[in-house]
Amino acid sequence: SSGPQYLTGDKTAIDAFIAKFDVFLFDCDGVLWSGDHPFPLIPETIAHLRALSKRLIFVTNNSTKSRADYAKKFHALGIPCSEEEVFGSSYSAAVYIARIMRLEPPKNRVYVLGESGVEQELAAEGVPFCGGTDPLLRREMLPEDFKRIADGSLLDDDVAIVLTGLDYHPSYLKYALGMAYLRRGAHFLATNTDSTLPSAGTLFPGAGATSAPLVTASGKQPLALGKPGQAMMEAIEGKFAFERGRACMVGDRLDTDIRFGIEGGLGGTLCVLTGVSKKEEFLGKGKAVVPSAYVDSLGDLLG
Ligand code: PLP
Ligand code: CA
Repeated sequence: SSGPQYLTGDKTAIDAFIAKFDVFLFDCDGVLWSGDHPFPLIPETIAHLRALSKRLIFVTNNSTKSRADYAKKFHALGIPCSEEEVFGSSYSAAVYIARIMRLEPPKNRVYVLGESGVEQELAAEGVPFCGGTDPLLRREMLPEDFKRIADGSLLDDDVAIVLTGLDYHPSYLKYALGMAYLRRGAHFLATNTDSTLPSAGTLFPGAGATSAPLVTASGKQPLALGKPGQAMMEAIEGKFAFERGRACMVGDRLDTDIRFGIEGGLGGTLCVLTGVSKKEEFLGKGKAVVPSAYVDSLGDLLG
């Protein structure tokens, strides 16, 4: 093939590209906004696609916020969006646990290493959990904690799953509990395993860095429910029936978003250069992950 199509400034090519799809899956951070700063012309571009009757689904790996939190963020940034259109990695994990794993009491509790977004989505799916934002787990590990974890008195007997998402308050105690549950045979899941979290113009540790200590300690790998894992695509498809060949994944990151779209057999992928990946990473010979098209900024789709 002739490589990815550069759409910026080419109205005919943009209109032809958009016409190929009924559904657009949008990554959020790096495409619509960076942190709390929306990129230019985003509300207008979203309105343009809605006016063309495109179905929009906002797919984010950010597990720290629930769908409701995300819908609020969209509104605050002037981008109309309903909670129903948001599909986050916490929701993906909750749906997978509640509807696919379908564990029964007395062993169905989820031990969470993560923030409130994970807890809210588990609660919405009726899944019992512990850990998470419990402030008692942020304390220092004490000598008696070693004994109480070893003898099981600090553990919940009904924990069947360890689920990690980005945790801004990690502690050795939380990891020691996670390790104990994994050693007892709990399933190991992660909302996502992004290596990095882009913020304020640089890179911070991503959710993969939250699960990494448990990977090292247990020798196990988590099943990741975020992009690029296809469990997330199946979860999205379970909720919004759509034809994959008529769907386009829009994202800023080749290793998560664009890979997600390609491996999911979507009709196309669009890379936006306002985020993590640079065009040098996909232009030229022998590149691993190559989008179908790219634009400098999402607002360029307005032509
Ligand atoms: N994880 C966290 C905790 C984040 O804050 C973000 C971006 O804000 C992401 C992941 C990446 O999100 P997205 O998939 O929307 O780029
Ligand atoms: Ca992104």
